[in-house]
Amino acid sequence: MMTVAQDGHLRFVARVYRLRMLGLALGALAVASVLYQLHASLWLWATLILSGAVWPHLAYALSRRAAEPIRTEYVNLVIDAAMGGAWVALMQFNLLPSALLVAMMAMDRMSAGGWRLMSKSLALQIAVCLATWWINGFRLQPASTMLNVVACLPMLLVYPVWMSLVNYSLAQRVRQQNRQLDQLSRTDALTGLCNRNHWLEAAGGEWLRYQRNQRPAALILLDIDGFKQINDRYGHAAGDQLLSDLARLLQRGLRDVDTPGRLGGDEFGIVLPETNLERASAVAERIRLLAENSRPNRHGQHIPWTISLGVAAVGEDIQDVGAWMRQADVALYRAKSQGRNRVSVASSGRGGGTTTQPTTV
Ligand code: GH3
Ligand code: MG
Repeated sequence: MMTVAQDGHLRFVARVYRLRMLGLALGALAVASVLYQLHASLWLWATLILSGAVWPHLAYALSRRAAEPIRTEYVNLVIDAAMGGAWVALMQFNLLPSALLVAMMAMDRMSAGGWRLMSKSLALQIAVCLATWWINGFRLQPASTMLNVVACLPMLLVYPVWMSLVNYSLAQRVRQQNRQLDQLSRTDALTGLCNRNHWLEAAGGEWLRYQRNQRPAALILLDIDGFKQINDRYGHAAGDQLLSDLARLLQRGLRDVDTPGRLGGDEFGIVLPETNLERASAVAERIRLLAENSRPNRHGQHIPWTISLGVAAVGEDIQDVGAWMRQADVALYRAKSQGRNRVSVASSGRGGGTTTQPTTV
């Protein structure tokens, strides 16, 4: 089976293949205009056809079959550059096609492998160019004709646009993957609710709002009663299903501005902006009833379950989010110790508080 990394490498190889086919075909046109003027020998024409039409397919086949496709593809990119160097000398340094070849190849190598690949390719390109020039008897005819200009136009016009399109779609994909990563780093995998850290950020935001503008806000902490026994009796998968059902219940039963989150295990929290203690207690009681009267899960299995809830509103005496959480936690603990399946409300001072008895058990 192919790993994600291998899949990415093969996509890179395919991308370079398409670019190479286009680049070498357009580049061959520019070179051909010079060979025509120089009345080049048949073997040079044959080499041009081989490098323009056969080499891209050969390079692709070599990379695809290699144990490390990406490494082979980098070697192929360096070979491309070396061939470019040879063509510059064989064109006797005809200025426009030579400059175009060198510039396009440098752009390619830079976008495929950064400075490292670019400088390596350029060094080899210069070496091969000088060696070919020497073999070719140091011939030099740099003046470009109108024919050369026209033959360079397709590459000048088409290749950079194509290259930019490829880079743009890559940047789009990176942006999309970053968004997904960001979403994943904020989400609890099982329930799809915010995870603990993200939820604490939301609670912190409300605490700050209270400090600045004295806007009311409340926290509800809730925990499934006897969840260990539910796991033991119905199995871990049924327990997971119950956690998901509770998350859906919270999403359905709250306003859009409220933030439910899974804090860990079977403990959940809700941040309620613009909500005083009285209204938050009513919300908590409504949720408690929804849980108590929940229907069979999606597998048709009916597991009776209840939750206990602790409610705390932000106030003058709350120094930070930690203190606010502790108040809600103390209230939750009280709901548990007073018999579970109930809502307990923290008083604004440090001690005390009230607990609502369940209406139905
Ligand atoms: P209490 O009424 O005091 O809350 O009793 P409890 O049995 O629910 O006790 P507690 O809240 O401490 O138990 C949490 C249990 O949740 C322990 C652990 O086995 C279970 N649990 C934690 N995470 C998961 C999970 O992702 N899936 C499942 N199925 N169970 C989990
Ligand atoms: Mg529990």
